Amino acid sequence: MGDMAKSRSNSAFERLTDQLSRLPGIGRRSAERIAFYLLKASTQEAEALAEAVLAFKRDQKVCAICGHVTESDPCPICADEQRDAGQVLVVEQPSDVASLEQTGVYRGVYHVLMGRLAPLEGVGPGELNIDRLVARVREGRVREVILGTNPTLEGDGTALYLAEQLEAMGVKLTRLARGIPTGSLLAGASKAVLSDAIQSRHAMEDG
Ligand SMILES: [Zn+2]
Repeated sequence: MGDMAKSRSNSAFERLTDQLSRLPGIGRRSAERIAFYLLKASTQEAEALAEAVLAFKRDQKVCAICGHVTESDPCPICADEQRDAGQVLVVEQPSDVASLEQTGVYRGVYHVLMGRLAPLEGVGPGELNIDRLVARVREGRVREVILGTNPTLEGDGTALYLAEQLEAMGVKLTRLARGIPTGSLLAGASKAVLSDAIQSRHAMEDG
């Protein structure tokens, strides 16, 4: 009986750490740290986490067109006929869309990669929403692809990779202007800086 109780408590710990360690960027050691944190946390806090995960899965949808995460598919931006579907701004994360939308200056649509190329972390083109971007361009209605990955080493590398994939397809390729300091993230930039970055974007070949 005692053994059974023991194996049951072991298994709850193991089940949680197994699940956590499947999450991107969380190894076994981090999973155990989170499990011990939750062990000491209040029941309320653990419930809030569990409910947030379930509500997220229930309510959030990934837009089949652009990969943005909202509560509808297609997302409100792709569904908006007032937006220019011929202009596609490529960003790393859904939060980048939110930051750029706050400027109110951009009237095109987006494409969310869900990350950036990071060979050292094992993130290659197959892990990102790139095939769908190539397919969108191939469909022929896209005039301009604005590469809006972060101005970091990996963001720039991702932009270069995308430019290589798309340049033979007859689409205009531009990069957000460098108002955003190198090494920083779009999500932290002010509205004014982001507005300027959109309006002063430049052709990819200008560097
Ligand atoms: Zn969309």
